[in-house]
Amino acid sequence: MLTNAPKGTKDMLPQQAYKWHYIENAFAEICRRYGFEEIRTPVFEHTELFQRGVGDTTDIVQKEMYTFKDYGNRSITLKPEGTSPVVRAFTEHKLYAGVQPNKFYYNIPCFRYEKPQSGRLREFHQFGIETFGTMDMMADAEVIAHGYDFLNEMGITDIELRINSVGCPTCRKNHREALRKFLEPKYDELCDTCKDRYERNPMRIIDCKSPICQELVAGAPMMLDYLCDDCKDAFEQLKSNLDAMGIEYVVDPGIVRGLDYYTKTAFEFVTTKIGAQGTVCGGGRYDGLVEEVGGPSTPGVGYGLGKERLLLTMEACGVEIPEPDKTDVFIAVMGDEAKSAGLKLMRQLRNAGVAVQMDIMGRNIKNQFKYANRINAKKTVVIGADEIANNSFAIKDMATSEQVNVPMEEIVAELTK
Ligand code: ATP
Ligand code: MG
Repeated sequence: MLTNAPKGTKDMLPQQAYKWHYIENAFAEICRRYGFEEIRTPVFEHTELFQRGVGDTTDIVQKEMYTFKDYGNRSITLKPEGTSPVVRAFTEHKLYAGVQPNKFYYNIPCFRYEKPQSGRLREFHQFGIETFGTMDMMADAEVIAHGYDFLNEMGITDIELRINSVGCPTCRKNHREALRKFLEPKYDELCDTCKDRYERNPMRIIDCKSPICQELVAGAPMMLDYLCDDCKDAFEQLKSNLDAMGIEYVVDPGIVRGLDYYTKTAFEFVTTKIGAQGTVCGGGRYDGLVEEVGGPSTPGVGYGLGKERLLLTMEACGVEIPEPDKTDVFIAVMGDEAKSAGLKLMRQLRNAGVAVQMDIMGRNIKNQFKYANRINAKKTVVIGADEIANNSFAIKDMATSEQVNVPMEEIVAELTK
């Protein structure tokens, strides 16, 4: 118990950490090119933010949140997703008063009480982007293109972009009635959660993970057929913007974000390469969300992308992430005087930006060389009594075994050139 991490969490060991650095650097870089700036929000928020911002008919709010009372008797929740905290910060700091649009990216841990399996954890990690302040479908297309290009740059092949429109509160009313009528004769067979959804928000039933509910909604009326002129127009514009950018997509009327504050665009990037949990990235437009959490009416659009699922997909696609160099130089020493000279040199080199190691285990010279090989040092500097007497150190190239002698005062310049 004491030596096992909690269920659904994973340690990130050095053997994996460099892979995370790789995707994180690449993500920050593509955000720079697209003009998204980083925003960091707290790991926990007031519970009510997620009840409002995610919606209390969703799986997340109904059964997945890590919620607790702190010692001040406040209800606190570890963030299960990234958008609501960004909306809260956007409102709190009145960022809407500045030049529009606002474009943010985030890189966060998320917490959801779920059944752990491959690609589904209780602590997982997300990248995300959000654009605030514009209704223009240029923004939706830009957000989608960002995800598309990022996944491409990460070497992912075989991933499908699926797009849909979930309409707006006006046109959704008609769809809601049609959906209720369709589901009425099947009401008794719905799962308990969906019985509640039937009353409060039937569109979410389309998104239920239960296979029985999935069967019951087969052939149900789809939102795409109920769009008002404005939403229909927006969807056409989105498609023509994507076409103009050469981005391939399929229209999938089954993609749902069923809350009133999610509007128009909904999309997912889905792969079949990593089994059942194939949605790597999901997003859409939320023109009512800022107002819902107490800000001025401001449109927004964004996506969230699961980093674990991204890495699983990269692995399945055979992407090789380059391992970083760890040690450039190893300093092997014989005797106390050499040790002092080595310590001095090591500091000089480290301060000059070189990755340097010395033995700190009391190894003899032979084992110091063995160790230098083990850690893949590119060069080894050898310091013994002779070297000190001649004021000249030997530098051995570990790949070619070539050795050169370099005067002590030139050695830093030699090793940093
Ligand atoms: P799913 O349908 O797989 O439960 P979701 O709709 O709950 O996903 P979002 O809230 O849209 O997911 O989160 C965005 C992304 O975060 C997902 O596309 C996925 O890559 C990732 N994700 C979501 N939940 C988990 C989890 N429990 N473990 C790992 N990654 C996750
Ligand atoms: Mg989920």
